[in-house]
Amino acid sequence: MTRKKIIAGNWKMHTSPEEAFELASAIGRHVMGQTTPVVVLCPPYTSISAAKSAVKNTEVKIGGQDMYWKESGAYTGEVSGRMLLTSGCSYVILGHSERRQLFYETNITVNTKLKAALDVGLTPIVCVGETLEEREAGLMENVIREQVLGCFEGIQPADFAKTVIAYEPVWAIGTGKTATPAQAEEVHSRIRELLRNNYAEQIEHTSILYGGSVKPDNAAELFAQPNIDGGLVGGASLKADSFIPIIAAAS
Ligand code: PEP
Repeated sequence: MTRKKIIAGNWKMHTSPEEAFELASAIGRHVMGQTTPVVVLCPPYTSISAAKSAVKNTEVKIGGQDMYWKESGAYTGEVSGRMLLTSGCSYVILGHSERRQLFYETNITVNTKLKAALDVGLTPIVCVGETLEEREAGLMENVIREQVLGCFEGIQPADFAKTVIAYEPVWAIGTGKTATPAQAEEVHSRIRELLRNNYAEQIEHTSILYGGSVKPDNAAELFAQPNIDGGLVGGASLKADSFIPIIAAAS
């Protein structure tokens, strides 16, 4: 089964425009002429344009870290999908666990954003993942099922085919605790199984990324799993020296 390999860097609330330009330039130089994996950089809004200009002659893609579902209007502090698109983004992360935990996003808001992102032609990276408490209480499967089915509710197969999924166990994000390749693979294949009912054909081509303390020394083993199609990388995406070996591990 050929699925697109993707390595996405989530820069979170880091980088000034100058720092973003420098980091994106270093990554762009490395990726030049290389089409696999697809490399996506997701800077904070204020650094999107700097990062975009740094990679303009390369294959590197730019993504937003979130968006609002309305196109424009009196929504102080929000940014729309069209704004991301016209600033040079082609991807957008939706439902990151930090958005869910710190900004009270729900599967319903993620679903609404997902529809809006697809409407404007952005490629959404939809994040799901259980907390440590949920895993320890034996609730992982239920939580993943609710998130996956809730986020993709009402999405037509042709639109589903344009989406990317990221499994990010919350207990592995920024903690240095990576899910073992076997633990991650188990959830990735479960996610594929859950979506097979509605999207039998499309799910075989859908990239499911793993996220949670991906580092140069664990990336290759994770990406070698049959249902892991790349990574969503936080901390290690902030330095070219650690992000480039992760890209290489997916090449
Ligand atoms: C993330 O924020 O999506 C993430 C996976 O972070 P880290 O790689 O730092 O765990």
